[in-house]
Amino acid sequence: MQTNASPTPIAAPQPKPWIMGIAPYVPGRATADDGRPVTKLSSNENPLGTSPAAREAFAAAGHELERYPDAGATALREAIAAAHGIEADRIVHGTGSDEVLHLAAGAFAGLGDEVIYVRYGFSVYDIATRRVGAVPVVAPDRDYATDVDAILACVTDRTRVVFVANPNNPTGTYAGRSEIARLHAGLPGHVLLVVDQAYAEYVEPGEEDGGLELARTQANVLVTRTFSKIHGLAAERIGWGYGSPAVIDAMHRIRAPFNVTIAGQQAAIAALADTGFVAASREHNARGRAAFVAEIEALGNAGLRAVPSEANFVLVTFPAGQAEPAYKALMAAGYAVRWLPGQGLPNALRITIGREEDMAAVVDVLRAQVEAG
Ligand code: PMP
Repeated sequence: MQTNASPTPIAAPQPKPWIMGIAPYVPGRATADDGRPVTKLSSNENPLGTSPAAREAFAAAGHELERYPDAGATALREAIAAAHGIEADRIVHGTGSDEVLHLAAGAFAGLGDEVIYVRYGFSVYDIATRRVGAVPVVAPDRDYATDVDAILACVTDRTRVVFVANPNNPTGTYAGRSEIARLHAGLPGHVLLVVDQAYAEYVEPGEEDGGLELARTQANVLVTRTFSKIHGLAAERIGWGYGSPAVIDAMHRIRAPFNVTIAGQQAAIAALADTGFVAASREHNARGRAAFVAEIEALGNAGLRAVPSEANFVLVTFPAGQAEPAYKALMAAGYAVRWLPGQGLPNALRITIGREEDMAAVVDVLRAQVEAG
């Protein structure tokens, strides 16, 4: 007979002691408090959508739902390799680059080891670090940006992994080729440098950070990439990493066996081939970002500032206490942006560059806030 009585309070399964120290990931919002759908400028998604060719490839994969995907994602890795001039057998695919970041921590750091990332870094680094029982070491920023010297000053014998997002999320800031080279040169060989290039395609052509070249020539560099941002395939969860054969081999051993779906693999291959969509997305973003930054700079007298961004979002800082009301006003107007007090940024909003009309509406709300305030 079933009862609603609680089970006798005997010993219950206990998570590993460090698991409950993990602050759960907070996703970008898609609805207001009352459940009303809002325009999402909170997850750095592509406002142009997805390449039509990728959509077609995705739809065409629907006829073989009973089959497992290619566990090795061979055709996808070969397409990535051809597109970037790198070797397919040095690529590991992941359920989003989130999985690839977890694989890096999982393969190279363990209980009591140290993992370094920057203050105002991507929140998954903290989760991936704590998940394996490693100790997060947070290097101070330099005006929101990655400070190579501060990272190097944190390195100890226990350091196993350094995570650097370039451009960085949530700040949008960018470390150039010489800074990334200097960071790598200062790290001992046993430390894996992860250069997270989730937003790399938004960087001005010609200003790339040299991460792929370092990963090709150095034993301790991993570059991670995603199909979620410029390729507009966030729903399908496809990412990859490129590094030395030994690094990639270790990561393959612990990834989920069928971690990218058939539809995802097909869509990603088609997305890579649609270079026109990628170029249009980059141009749309560059134009929209420049226009938005100019509008924020025009509100500079009121204390607003756009942190320099190379990504598809801008971190706007406000005078103390004014970011939260601006966040609420934007939500009331139908726009979800990112307010990140939990990441030490109570006086800033991270705003994805969306469609022109949406950015104009966001600026109108911010201007009205400033004038009222
Ligand atoms: N790295 C950075 C810096 C990101 O901002 C994101 C997405 N928020 C990711 C990695 C993970 O993206 P995905 O898992 O969709 O590839």
